[in-house]
Amino acid sequence: MKQPISIFWFRRDLRLNDNAGLYHALKGNTPVLCLFIFDPEILDKLEDKDDARVTFIYQTIQGLNSELATHNSSLLVKYAKPYHAWDEILNEYNVQSVYTNHDYEPYALERDSEMKKLFNKKGISFNTYKDQVIFEMDEVIKDDGKPYTVFTPYKRKWNGKLNAFYLKSYPTTKYLKNLVGIKPLPIPTLKDMSFVKSKTSFPPKEYKNVIDNYAGKRDYPAVKGTSHIGLHLRFGTVSIRQLASDANQAPEKTWLNELIWRDFYAMILYHFPQMATHAFKPDYDRIKWRNNETEFKAWCEGKTGYPLVDAGMRELNATGYMHNRVRMVVASFLSKHLLIDWRWGEHYFARLLLDYEMASNVGGWQWAVGSGNDAAPYFRVFNPELQLKRFDPKLEYIKKWVPEYADFSTYPKPIVDHVFARDRCLKAFKAALSK
Ligand code: FAD
Repeated sequence: MKQPISIFWFRRDLRLNDNAGLYHALKGNTPVLCLFIFDPEILDKLEDKDDARVTFIYQTIQGLNSELATHNSSLLVKYAKPYHAWDEILNEYNVQSVYTNHDYEPYALERDSEMKKLFNKKGISFNTYKDQVIFEMDEVIKDDGKPYTVFTPYKRKWNGKLNAFYLKSYPTTKYLKNLVGIKPLPIPTLKDMSFVKSKTSFPPKEYKNVIDNYAGKRDYPAVKGTSHIGLHLRFGTVSIRQLASDANQAPEKTWLNELIWRDFYAMILYHFPQMATHAFKPDYDRIKWRNNETEFKAWCEGKTGYPLVDAGMRELNATGYMHNRVRMVVASFLSKHLLIDWRWGEHYFARLLLDYEMASNVGGWQWAVGSGNDAAPYFRVFNPELQLKRFDPKLEYIKKWVPEYADFSTYPKPIVDHVFARDRCLKAFKAALSK
């Protein structure tokens, strides 16, 4: 008779400490084996074989495996579609229960509902927990029971509900003695999965240094005023409870506000999954996009003739990061100046951003277009030259990413004139929205 065990399934919560699902697994009655599945359903859709996120996950998995080894355990790593991976696991081990954390993206919800059916059929309990946000799904809703679609009242309710209970960390590491004792298990290589190691360097897990001066510095892309913690939040290499708790203790609450935006967009995507591919305000799906491929290429490569747009795109291409102010400017430029479907831009960001999250990315893009639930009005068309003067007055950010830029007279001519583009955009948007 094989030893009865529980399995904790890591997904986007790649840490041992303060991990809700892992904590509950370790407090159960059976020893716990930790699992990670590299899912070809996700990997095969990635366009770059040196995708930096895959390298980051891979290195994190190796780190987790080493940590588990110090507790005489190991990570079980599979490279297969989850259903097949689980089929193998259930044949190999005597699994009594499965623990994991909630995942709210449409594909994840579908995957988990399929897995739940499999576990039910086999009489295995499937226990899932909130871990990646402070408030999820229906926890912060309007008095009439409907989800908020506007941020400010959502934030008010979110803040009103916040107390120590929601910020308390799970003392997971105290219970690591309940891990299954097992010899190191082999991990598939990046090559086995047809990937190669990326050369991108990853931001450290530091954020405390920005909280106190965030409000005054966050809008200036040349200044180190934001945390770059997004990648770690995306893959759960930091705990949102820890971050929100630190942010909540600070006298200045602007940074906490950004974490609330993250919860807000996760909640919105959960309730309105159609937003991933359609405008939140359906009228915006009637806009006649120009979708000029040459102009799209110029935008992607940072060759639009607008130095701030070009700097942002080059920063993204080189590092997998772009400053929030510049994300707003380049998104507005693509969808409004060039009249290119925001989904093209959203897709390009999804391909390259280290901190890519479907909820915040779709939310950010629809905000910039004006089609989102709580978006900038459509007639607000950022002027990239004025944005540059305001937010990079000494051209420090520009000089870093567009070193050939001296001034407008020597820089390549803009691919479209601002006044002309603004007028064209307003006409196209009005035509779609007035029907
Ligand atoms: P900080 O400014 O230090 O903020 C801390 C954390 O708060 C961020 O890491 C992030 O998790 C959260 N946060 C901050 N601003 C926002 C916001 N406006 N919406 C939601 N969460 C926020 N954010 C992503 O995490 N993933 C994306 O794919 C993404 N795509 C975007 C696309 C567009 C067009 C726009 C305008 C914004 C997008 N954002 C996205 C939001 C924001 O730009 C990034 O979260 C931020 O720039 C990340 O940098 P940072 O880690 O230094 O954040």
